[in-house]
Amino acid sequence: MSIKLEYYEVLSVSRDATADDIRKAYRREALKHHPDRNPNDTAAEAKFKEVNEAYQVLSDGDKRRIYDQFGHAGLEGAAGRGEGGMGDVFSHMQDLFAEMFSGNGVGFAGGGRARRGNDMRIQTRLSLREAAFGCKREVHVRAPAPCTDCSGSGAKAGSKPEACSNCRGSGQVSNARGFVMFTSTCPRCRGAGRIVKHPCPACGGHGAVERARKVNVTFPAGIDTGQRLRVTGQGMAGPNGAPAGDLYVEIDVEEDARFERDGADLVTRVHVALTDAALGAEIRVPALDAEAESATIALSIPPGTQSSAMFTLKGHGVPRLDGRGRGALVVVVQVDVPTVLTARARELMEALRAELAPSPAEDEESKRAAVGK
Ligand SMILES: [Zn+2]
Ligand SMILES: [Zn+2]
Repeated sequence: MSIKLEYYEVLSVSRDATADDIRKAYRREALKHHPDRNPNDTAAEAKFKEVNEAYQVLSDGDKRRIYDQFGHAGLEGAAGRGEGGMGDVFSHMQDLFAEMFSGNGVGFAGGGRARRGNDMRIQTRLSLREAAFGCKREVHVRAPAPCTDCSGSGAKAGSKPEACSNCRGSGQVSNARGFVMFTSTCPRCRGAGRIVKHPCPACGGHGAVERARKVNVTFPAGIDTGQRLRVTGQGMAGPNGAPAGDLYVEIDVEEDARFERDGADLVTRVHVALTDAALGAEIRVPALDAEAESATIALSIPPGTQSSAMFTLKGHGVPRLDGRGRGALVVVVQVDVPTVLTARARELMEALRAELAPSPAEDEESKRAAVGK
């Protein structure tokens, strides 16, 4: 099972990026992963190929439109055309369109081409930690699957569907009215071309049953809300044994009580006592940790720290999707002024006020200075 990242994610651009944005992103990413700059680095080489593949598609208006509409599946060369057969995109697309518009699916008699199953899309919620550090999850997919009792034929064990006598198995009937021939769906078999006389009890003759499946999905570290993963071959089953479609898993990252996420950076807010802010202190702040749910790390705040002051801890944010380290943790300080004072605290505060109050002489001086300006 291969999981392929969206081309937009490969280039780190949004889906509505302009051609110019895409060119710039490509130049940046290609440079970063270029084999000359990363000798003997197979991961970088793979990434470089991915970046090139993404650019080939997104830089071409037609290919991009196809990709936007159909995803990777829309651009896949048919089997046997060699890998990465980008030159085949258009011939393949025509096949795809031909299949889409060729009617109700019975036109494939003659055993030519099997139609692939449809793609499916599901949404999965991940906690911030799961998304940040990656995880393996079983996702549940409900979809019609071929009935195992009758292998999808719809006929009871020991019997077989019979070709419809009304349309001789074609699913279509033609009538001549005057000089014009009208073709319509066979009313007897409703276009199926075959009649199930003894329906399979498990599926009622439909050949398919709704079934819940579990699919194991590996979510890479650094994934974020709105990104999609493709799981090949886990979409809808193809008709009559044709290959299944793909499953797209959309990511939705839950809100976190301790952190706000901004790409690879995290923001956390901490309360600091008035005295600690004034004198400086070593405090503990929330940290995102793969192992522990409510981990903290030390942060030393300098004397005279103001409310809303920000401290940036590099490398303590979310791991980047491309494996290049972690973003930053930004700590925003809120200085708490005490609301309830003990008698002793009050006394000390009064003393502090007296100590900090400007002397009358200084006061006069500063007034004069202000007027003189
Ligand atoms: Zn018929
Ligand atoms: Zn059945």
